[in-house]
Amino acid sequence: MIVVAHCRAGFEGETAIDLTRAASAAGVDAKCTTVVNSAYVVALLGALDLRRWRQALVDMPPIFARSVFAGSGPHVLVAAEHTKGQRGGADRVTPIVAAIEALASPASDLWVEFADTNDGKEMSTLARALTARIEGELRRRGLLLASAPNAKSAIAPRNRKRLHVFLPDGATAYVGSSIGESGSPWPMGIPRLKMPHAAPSRSTLKLVEALITFLGDSETAKLRAGMRAVDLGAAPGGWTWQLAHRGVRVTAVDNGPLKGEVASDPLVTHLRSDGLRFRPKRQVDWVTCDIVEQPLRIATLMADWIADGAARRALFNLKLPMKRRYDEVLRCIDAIDARVSRAGVDATLRVRQLYHDRAEVTAYLARVD
Ligand code: SAM
Repeated sequence: MIVVAHCRAGFEGETAIDLTRAASAAGVDAKCTTVVNSAYVVALLGALDLRRWRQALVDMPPIFARSVFAGSGPHVLVAAEHTKGQRGGADRVTPIVAAIEALASPASDLWVEFADTNDGKEMSTLARALTARIEGELRRRGLLLASAPNAKSAIAPRNRKRLHVFLPDGATAYVGSSIGESGSPWPMGIPRLKMPHAAPSRSTLKLVEALITFLGDSETAKLRAGMRAVDLGAAPGGWTWQLAHRGVRVTAVDNGPLKGEVASDPLVTHLRSDGLRFRPKRQVDWVTCDIVEQPLRIATLMADWIADGAARRALFNLKLPMKRRYDEVLRCIDAIDARVSRAGVDATLRVRQLYHDRAEVTAYLARVD
C-alpha cells in the first residue's frame, strides 16, 4: 500500500517518522521516500488492511503530517515521449479515473491536490481543470456520491470519505482515500480561514485552527462566552482577541503592548508580568501560551498548570530547535505525561504542527472531565 502525507516544507524527515511510527503501530514496515523541501512524503507500507492503517493513525496520530491518504501510485499520466508542447492536451483523466476505480469504493468528496511549495502551486491550474472532469467521470461510474460538498464551508464534514488525487508534477499522480480522523478535514491539510480585520496579528488564525483541530464539534461546548482564560505571552493580542471575540474574559500577560481594539476590550485585563511565573487566584477554564522559550520549559509549565488545577484546558505552542525536532517533541510529551500522571490527573494530550505553525508545534492538554 502507498501512503502520501502532506507537510510543511522542510519537515519531510519528521513526517517520515510519523508514518513509520503509525506503520509500526499497525505492525508493518514503512519505506519512506523524502525529498527535502518537497512538502510531501511517500511511504510504501507492507501488506496492510486499510481499516487497520486508519486505526493506527488514530492510535498513533501524526504530529507533522498535515494530511494523509492511502492508495496507489505513482501513476503515469503523460507518456515520456510526449514533448512539453503536447502535455497540455494529454488525457490525464482516463488513467486517474482507472486508478481510482481500482480502489473501488465510493466517496463523498474529490480533492485534486498538489504540494504546498512554489513549484507545487504551479499545479493549481491543472488541478482545478482536472477536478471538474474527474468528478464528472466518477459520478457517471457511481464512485462519487451525489451530495455535493459545501465548497464554501471552512470545515469539511469530518466523517465524509475523501478521494485524493495528488499531482507531484504534471506527469504523474497518486490516488487514494481518507476518512474522518485518519486524514485532514481540509484539502492538503490547509484550512482556508478568513483573517478578521480587527485582530492585531495573523497568529489569531493559529488559535482558530487549533480550536477546530483539537476540539472539533465540541468547540462551542468547551470554549464559550462567560468562561475565563489566561493568555501568556499575549502581545500584540491575536490569541487574546480571538478568545474575547468568543465572549471569554481574558487576563493577557505580557510586558509588551496589546494593539488595536483588544487593548481597550472590557473583557480583557492586560498584566505586564512574567508569564512564566504568573498564576491566577482561582482556577480558569483555559490557559494559552505563545511565549518563545525552550520547548521543555513551556511543556513543563503547562503540565504544572493542568496538574495543579490552575486551568482545566491548555493550548500552547512549542517552538522547535533546529535539530532533532521530533526527539524534542517526544521529550516534551513524556515530561507532560509524567507530570500529570504523578499528580494523579487524568488528561488528554494532542500535539500537531498546524498549517499556521512555522518551526513549532501546537499542543492541547486538558483535564478529562
Ligand atoms: N500570541 C500572540 C498573538 O497572537 O499576538 C503572539 C505572541 S509572540 C509570538 C510572543 C510574546 O511573548 C511576545 O509578545 C513577548 O513579549 C512575550 N513574552 C516573552 N517572554 C515572556 C514572559 N516571560 N512572560 C510574558 N510574555 C513573554
